[in-house]
Amino acid sequence: MKDETKCLHAGYTPKNAEPRVVPIVQSTTYYYDSAEDIGAVFDDPTKSLIYSRFENPTVMAVEEKIAALEGGIGAMCASSGQMASLLAVLNLCGAGDSFVSTSHIYGGTVNLFASTLKKLGIECIFVNGDAGEDEIAAAFKPGTKALFGETLANPALTVLDIEKMAKIAHAKNVPLIVDNTFPTPILCKPIRYGADIVVHSTSKYMDGHALQVGGVIVDSGNFDWHGGDFPGLTSPDPTYHGITYTETYGKMAYIIKARMQLMRDFGAYPSAHSGFLLNLGLETLALRMERYCQSALRVAEYFAASDRIASVSYPGLPGDRYHTLAQKYLKGASGVVTVVLQGGRAGAIRFMDALKLAGNQVHVADIRTCVQHPASSTHRQLTDSQLAAAGVDPGTVRFSVGLEHIDDILEDIEQALR
Ligand SMILES: *Cc1c(COP(=O)(O)O)cnc(C)c1O
Repeated sequence: MKDETKCLHAGYTPKNAEPRVVPIVQSTTYYYDSAEDIGAVFDDPTKSLIYSRFENPTVMAVEEKIAALEGGIGAMCASSGQMASLLAVLNLCGAGDSFVSTSHIYGGTVNLFASTLKKLGIECIFVNGDAGEDEIAAAFKPGTKALFGETLANPALTVLDIEKMAKIAHAKNVPLIVDNTFPTPILCKPIRYGADIVVHSTSKYMDGHALQVGGVIVDSGNFDWHGGDFPGLTSPDPTYHGITYTETYGKMAYIIKARMQLMRDFGAYPSAHSGFLLNLGLETLALRMERYCQSALRVAEYFAASDRIASVSYPGLPGDRYHTLAQKYLKGASGVVTVVLQGGRAGAIRFMDALKLAGNQVHVADIRTCVQHPASSTHRQLTDSQLAAAGVDPGTVRFSVGLEHIDDILEDIEQALR
């Protein structure tokens, strides 16, 4: 199936006389006829359902759909994009371990990696993703367990050279984890270029309608855990009656460990109703992404031609620094355009307050056009040098193009710039 078709049909196929639409299975638990039946489920939890703290049929239908779109062998949803990134790392790293990440990543992920994980004894070593292979490889230490990057960084809009990063990671026998939130699998499939694990904030384009926060981890099934140092996957788990994930579950080891160990213990699993709403968003994802890309290119061209802005970043623009990488990895550059206003911080805020159609909101990738000033909101906690490392200028406005008519969006920008 092509993506448009997978968006509608992957993950749920009704049998005769069953509901056409994926049903909302709103139940914490699942009924069994006997204690013996329940015992058998605990022996192999992949055979049947136990408890909605870590599995639910509605959410699992969505997981299957997202795995199909990304070209992975399995997926697990989580209560937020932050939780997906956290569990993706915790599934590999414990206290004393480290991982390498590019600094061009979402501000919330910077907080999580640089501060909260540090308190748990896990070190994140930041590198410039545009640096050469040798420089990035030199950042690895003994005990470094993964390499992390963002396909199309929020809000810097830098494009990750996925093949380069996969080469570096694999030479070090660690997996490449890619946050693919902005492109979604419609515009980029990182697994094709060597990514091993893909994470998303589904709160953005996947949900699409600003209805609910969520995240997902997708496993390519391609990484050879025995080739590296991953005892959590390759030796017995005493909390799970001594099974060894790679032995029992083979290629599914990583994603099953994430669910049966981490999600079981943390319980940050979405509700059935959230899964239902996410599915509804996914049904139109391919169609929406196409329009976002068309309209955002028009908006980026408009900004580029204006004498009232300092600079515009949109990898879809031929003059953009990341245009060549975008052409290689992205089918389109998404709906987000970053623009640096003249007059720095004050200029940015004046422009934003003058917009009438585009709403000021702490969100991006919404169906409605919206704007945000990273330096005073999502990236407020970052120091100036962290801001610069994340590619954010004090005058940067993140402009998220929605599905309104392009003429209305451009007219709003024009009057606000005036
Ligand atoms: C929003 C976002 C996150 C965090 O996701 P939440 O769902 O808000 O927790 C992570 N990565 C990227 C690229 C994001 O845009």
